[in-house]
Amino acid sequence: MSAGASTAGSLWFPAYVALGSNLDRPAIQLERAFAALDSLPQCRLLARSRLYKTQPLGPQDQPEFINAAAGLLTTLTARELLVELKRLEGELGRAQPVVRWGPRLIDLDLLMHADTQISESDLTVPHPGLPERNFVLYPLRDIAPELLVPGHGRVSQLAARVGGTGLALLTGAPGGQ
Ligand code: AMP
Repeated sequence: MSAGASTAGSLWFPAYVALGSNLDRPAIQLERAFAALDSLPQCRLLARSRLYKTQPLGPQDQPEFINAAAGLLTTLTARELLVELKRLEGELGRAQPVVRWGPRLIDLDLLMHADTQISESDLTVPHPGLPERNFVLYPLRDIAPELLVPGHGRVSQLAARVGGTGLALLTGAPGGQ
């Protein structure tokens, strides 16, 4: 039985979350999101990546995104963690509905949860975009280069394969974005 299918109890699972924003000073939004992740029940924020400026997926007539990744330890199952992430998005001010691939104040995606594999209508783990999106892989490589994505390979190998086109490290104070 995979970790996500069990009742989590007191076992601590490693989990990885992708963060993205392209509205209202996105770097500030990501700082708020990191702090909120750290205060989630039954979760500890262990690692945070650098921030990356990235080109939007889909519609190009929108501001560039800032993306990052977080590494957590959690006693929540994957599904319980998704519920918490969606709740956080609401608390951090994300309005619903959001246009697919359109501008957003904050986006929190569950990338991986231990060895959990889920393929359901409302939850896919590992996240299906993980093996191919450089704006996910580069931040994740900062904090988990050796992480094995089932069926695809290590994060560092996947990042090297997709390349960094359209990405730039964000430098300077978060208030600048
Ligand atoms: P998004 O617009 O990126 O916030 O995602 C919209 C929907 O994707 C959510 O309502 C989730 O139910 C679904 N979803 C499926 N798998 C995942 C995942 N691994 N992480 C986050 N959302 C997911």
